[in-house]
Order: sequence, then structure tokens, then C-alpha cells
Amino acid sequence: MSNKCVYCGERKGKRECPALGGLICSRCCGEHRGVEIKCPPDCRYFKKHEEFQQSKQAESYRKIWAEENEDILEEQDRKMIEAIGVLETLIYYRYRDDTTLTDKRVIKGLEGLENRFKTIELPGSPSEFADFAYEELKPLIERGKFTEKQLKDATSRLLGIAQTFTDESRRLVQGAVGRIKEDYDLPAEGPENRTEEIESLITTPDQFNQGPT
Ligand SMILES: [Zn+2]
Repeated sequence: MSNKCVYCGERKGKRECPALGGLICSRCCGEHRGVEIKCPPDCRYFKKHEEFQQSKQAESYRKIWAEENEDILEEQDRKMIEAIGVLETLIYYRYRDDTTLTDKRVIKGLEGLENRFKTIELPGSPSEFADFAYEELKPLIERGKFTEKQLKDATSRLLGIAQTFTDESRRLVQGAVGRIKEDYDLPAEGPENRTEEIESLITTPDQFNQGPT
């Protein structure tokens, strides 16, 4: 068996890559994991890197969140803060189901979702994330937890955060997932009743206020 990297075929493969079924060089693993390579969530290299990035990015994500939404934090608009938290939780769920989720797919999904909530829906490109999010949000509208208008505004706000925060790779996914993991006590895996879980989330402005300055 050749000891060349299964990805580039040039450098020496040193790490067992469960996604490609062979040895990968550390550079290819570092550059392509979770993006071009569909890493299984239990790969130790992927897991270690993801967890590190999530806690690192969560902090800067909260900062951007607070900057972009200074108005609702000041007004203590709990309903809007909560609605954004629900949408962020949907990113977390999507990531939990598919760890190769990218910023691009999330942003495209939020655009699609924003469009769905418009009175007159404009034709847009199909988005798997938008379909998923819409299905999860529908029961919340039916139960009177949020109005369509509130969810549309929350989507626009989250889209603003997303566009500022993304590095066009996975920074947004890592930041949002990191913040959700730290701020909410959600089970690491399903199956669960998501609607009830979403309804029980408690979001406070303090999650974004960086404490006394
Ligand atoms: Zn390589």
C-alpha cells in the first residue's frame, strides 16, 4: 500500500482519514476537513478541531451579534432576541444532523426563509435549509409563539449577523453552534421533540452583554 496522502497524492499520509478510507497528510486534513471532505462527526481530528473552533468563534460571534443588534438589546426586546435564538438553534440542529454544513448553505437558507415570510413570495432558488427551518417554525406560528412578521424580522437580523461574520467557509456555523452549545443546555443528539425543545429555550439579553465594563 502506498503511503502517499489519499487526498493530494503528493505528501506522506500520516492520519487515518475515515471519510476517505486511507492516510491523509496533515495539511490536506487541516485545509479540507468539514468542507471538501465529508468528515464523520466521530473522527477525532475533526472533533477536536471543531470543538476548539466553536469555543473560539462563539465569543467573537456574540460580539458581532451584540453590535448588529444594539437596538433590541437596549430595548430589552426579549421576543426578538428569543426569535433569533430559535433560528440559531435550527442552525445547530442542522449541524448536528450534518457536520459538513457550510456558511454558504446557511446564508442561502436564511435568504430563502426571509423570502418565504414575505407577503408575496418571490421566486427563489430552492434551499434545503430554508425548507427545514420553515417546517420547524410552522408549529410555533400555529401555536401563537411567534407571528410570521416576528420571524421574518428575526431572519433578517440573523442574516445581517451571518453576512458580517462569515469567512465564506465555516466560521458562521462554528460561531453560531458554539454560542448555542454554551448558552442552551441541548442534548448532543436526537431524537427529541424539537418543537417542545425550541419552545422551552430561554434567551436573555445577558447572553450578549459582555458583563459590566
Ligand atoms: Zn495531502
